[in-house]
Amino acid sequence: MIIFKKKSELKIYLQNIKAYKRTIGFVPTMGALHKGHLSLIQKAKKKNDIVIVSIFVNPTQFDKKEDLIKYPKTLENDSKLLESVDCDVLFYPSVEEIYNKNVVSDAFDFDGLEHQMEGKFREGHFNGVGTIVKTLFEIVTPNRAYFGQKDFQQLQIIKKMVKKHRINVKIKGCAIYREDDGLAMSSRNTRLTQEQREAAPFIYKTLKTARKKFGTENADIITKWVENRFKKHPLFKLEYFTIADEKTLETIKDKEFGKKYRAFIAVFAEDVRLIDNIRLKN
Ligand code: AMP
Repeated sequence: MIIFKKKSELKIYLQNIKAYKRTIGFVPTMGALHKGHLSLIQKAKKKNDIVIVSIFVNPTQFDKKEDLIKYPKTLENDSKLLESVDCDVLFYPSVEEIYNKNVVSDAFDFDGLEHQMEGKFREGHFNGVGTIVKTLFEIVTPNRAYFGQKDFQQLQIIKKMVKKHRINVKIKGCAIYREDDGLAMSSRNTRLTQEQREAAPFIYKTLKTARKKFGTENADIITKWVENRFKKHPLFKLEYFTIADEKTLETIKDKEFGKKYRAFIAVFAEDVRLIDNIRLKN
């Protein structure tokens, strides 16, 4: 695996790749890699000649400074994991390399997708995401880019950005990779106490029951049921639970035939924020 810290060096490497018409699969990450990230890389490996992974903890997408500071950094282990799945290139730039001295986001219009769920609770988050992903796409110029459904709103927003800005890249959504007990894998899971970690499958269990209920009950009733369940929980505080249309991400009241729905959840275990979602059957 080749490691580039400078975009100028990566660009020279890419000129060669392009000259031979080799395809590039790209997986942007913030590091602290786990099997969820690796599943994206493995998917990218199957379809592309070269796979590039970026590790960049993007400051402009964090609304809380302490969350940025506490974000786990495990580069040595990340490199080993990347080698284990035959990643070709790691792009590992500094904040200065990406932003120069101007660490601010551009303003994006994602046709309202940015105002739902995460957008309501994380001020400026999606402007930060849009800024970094667009910048990385310009540097890496991938044919395909891989994003997890774990961050489903982010995936839809990236698809929207690519369409609106006419960026020539195919966006591929990848299934959520879970621990054996159902907890969605996340770099943040390592910050959970043992007690919180043992209790955390409660989140996915709640989503699975919500999915079952969706067959017979309406979205409002299910939402109230979830809210009550969390009110009684000693370790987890619910930030939001919502059942939304996959396309608009707007909370729904009643089901309509032919539309696709998902349940989304954000939960705090003290200061560790966990998100998850599940596809619902209509
Ligand atoms: P992050 O490093 O958290 O920014 O994540 C980088 C990419 O990996 C994003 O596209 C995430 O949606 C994806 N990802 C993170 N966790 C998982 C998971 N458990 N399953 C699938 N994809 C994931």
